[in-house]
Amino acid sequence: MELLMHFCQCKLRTVLPRTLSRVGRRNHHCTPQSFHSVHASSKPVAPTPLVSRLFQPSNLREGQEVGDMTCRSQRLMLQAGLIHLSNPGCFYYLPAALRSMEKLVRLIDEEMQAIGGQKVDMPALCAAELWKRSGRWELMGKEMFRLQDRHNIDYCLGPTHEEAVTELLASQSTLSYKQLPLLLYQVTRKFRDEQKPKFGLLRGREFYMKDMYSFDYSEEAALHTYQSVCHAYGRLLDRLGLRWVQVQADTGNIGGTLSHEFHLPAEVGEDRLLMCENCGFSANVETLEAGQTDCPQCHTAPFTESKGIEVGHTFYLGTKYSQVFNATFTNAQNKLAMSVMGCFGLGVTRILAASLEVLSSEDSIRWPGLLAPYQVCILPPKKGSKASEAVHLAEDLVQNIGNILPNLKGEVVMDDRTQLTIGKRMKDANRLGYPYVVVVGQKAMEENPVFEVVCQQSGETVFLSRDALLDLLSNVETV
Ligand SMILES: [Zn+2]
Repeated sequence: MELLMHFCQCKLRTVLPRTLSRVGRRNHHCTPQSFHSVHASSKPVAPTPLVSRLFQPSNLREGQEVGDMTCRSQRLMLQAGLIHLSNPGCFYYLPAALRSMEKLVRLIDEEMQAIGGQKVDMPALCAAELWKRSGRWELMGKEMFRLQDRHNIDYCLGPTHEEAVTELLASQSTLSYKQLPLLLYQVTRKFRDEQKPKFGLLRGREFYMKDMYSFDYSEEAALHTYQSVCHAYGRLLDRLGLRWVQVQADTGNIGGTLSHEFHLPAEVGEDRLLMCENCGFSANVETLEAGQTDCPQCHTAPFTESKGIEVGHTFYLGTKYSQVFNATFTNAQNKLAMSVMGCFGLGVTRILAASLEVLSSEDSIRWPGLLAPYQVCILPPKKGSKASEAVHLAEDLVQNIGNILPNLKGEVVMDDRTQLTIGKRMKDANRLGYPYVVVVGQKAMEENPVFEVVCQQSGETVFLSRDALLDLLSNVETV
């Protein structure tokens, strides 16, 4: 069914035809002529989420002891109803956490596709046979989850997909150099049998990872691709407003000859990083010789040491995997040549938790602005208070935002628990970290009405007219 709706040019009012003349008269800046009609589509419009109805059960009481296997982000996420522990190292991602993660994935998609990445989805259930060919079936040891099917065939739950993707490419007999570089990536659940899962989403046994695999026609081209992915990782972390460092890293059981890690400096981090203040060289301490105190690059400056949470890892693989699986392409001379590979990981759930770890305080979550599950929380007045009549102003505000701010579509929640004081609800909003909290109170009923706006990212509180508030919110970047 289609409904004829009327929108005013001032974009603040949407009305049904029968109320048009009345509304037009009542608003000094809207005349009936300033309305234009469009057919509203019958596509369902999601109602504004009400805090009383959101499923975000707190899984941690205030002051409850949680032991030494936890960290700030885990405590805050349990407290705010973002995650729920299922079994060691495995969590339910509750609705708000999932909203945030979906935003992060959209951001990752933007950055990966900007450098030519194409998204795929590979099976999590991987045949042991592939892993035996690369020699990693033995090498991976106890960290890999292994299982057998009913025919006693061995499988693993893929912790990474070098073998699978190289086999995919090797099965294509028609790959031409004109199609290279080819960058395939996925964002999927990964599994790792951690001996001691801890720190919530920072070190779990089941988690989300973005893994990308690149195929190039020469070593030079592959190194160029390597750099372009590193730049994309840097841009992504910049857009999240996070302080990060890129360090020289060990290639571990993935192999290859060149590797970097991307870290967020943090006390809870499990890696030790050394940074040279003189030339900018930085490395994971495990790549340096024991006891080395001077920079291997400039030999002069002493190192600065920091702990870091690894959120990304890049590897230049050369032909290590393409040779095993015979992943070739047809070159310009129409001869078969070996693909030169790279692989690139980003810990999706880990970025989420690590950013809360570094941005939040002990009792309040602060999000990277783009990842906040909801951008705006509106607090209508307490029921029975002097300002209680202002409740319709809160509803109008929600409607105004919905009508004129496309950037905030679906980004506004209303804390309808009006049996609670503004103060109590403000405390909850602070803990959940909505970037903007708008209090509709007594000042909204004055002759020159203003709303109290708490900008939680900057810590500022400002009083704004409706137009100034809409102007402020129109600049909120969302993904
Ligand atoms: Zn140096």
